[in-house]
Amino acid sequence: MVYLKTEEELAIIREGSQILGKVHGEVARLIKPGIKTSKLDEVAEEFIRDHGGSPSFKNYNGFPASLCISVNDVVVHGFPGNYELRETDIISIDCGVYYKGYHSDSAYTYPLVGVDAETLLLLNRTYDSLFIGIAQAKAGNRIGDVSYAIQSYVESFGYGVVRELVGHGVGKRLHEDPEVPNYGRRGKGPKIVAGMVFAIEPMINRGTKNVVQERDGWTIRTSDRRPSAHFEHMVAVKENETEVLTTHKYIEENYSYKWRNKSQ
Ligand code: MG
Ligand code: MG
Repeated sequence: MVYLKTEEELAIIREGSQILGKVHGEVARLIKPGIKTSKLDEVAEEFIRDHGGSPSFKNYNGFPASLCISVNDVVVHGFPGNYELRETDIISIDCGVYYKGYHSDSAYTYPLVGVDAETLLLLNRTYDSLFIGIAQAKAGNRIGDVSYAIQSYVESFGYGVVRELVGHGVGKRLHEDPEVPNYGRRGKGPKIVAGMVFAIEPMINRGTKNVVQERDGWTIRTSDRRPSAHFEHMVAVKENETEVLTTHKYIEENYSYKWRNKSQ
């Protein structure tokens, strides 16, 4: 069941999404070699609570933290912990904020300064695929148009598109309908209509599309242990335009390594 949002609901989600963007910005300042991933989680939780929200992920089906922190070959749902970042790592930070009854959800993958050129390309192209998908998320299209656009772009580079995890509607619940896969066929799937709010989140692997789940019941890794990238935005569909609700602006302002290749 898809819950369409009113203007009033959108206003709240927009506010929550700004807080979420700033959480990402606070985390971005700290990402450097030597930082413990548990420290990033502490800072995020404190910031969320100081701004009148609560972390969407903490205790969600038993998830133990405010951030999903996924390093290198971890695709998504990694736990923060004692691991200290190294300069050749990539790290995906996924965060959700619950604010005035509504969730927001977005993710970003950072390269540290020593990341190899191939992995940097994976990140640039995955980032681009998010916006290629967003461009198809308009009233009158179908979810399959978004899925197909992402899949065909990233597969042209030989990358693997994760099948087991997908984007999703967001609202009073963190995961609502529709599902938004990163693979699919043009013209298929639910129709996109004004009032829909959903997260688009390509999870793209440098090698195989296949993933495995760790014994902790959460952590998802690539089965060939090659790196994986993840970027996520939430959009609100309107009659004549689609608004990107979440923001990476604060990340771009605060992260010291300016890694994006704008010409990609
Ligand atoms: Mg999501
Ligand atoms: Mg997310």
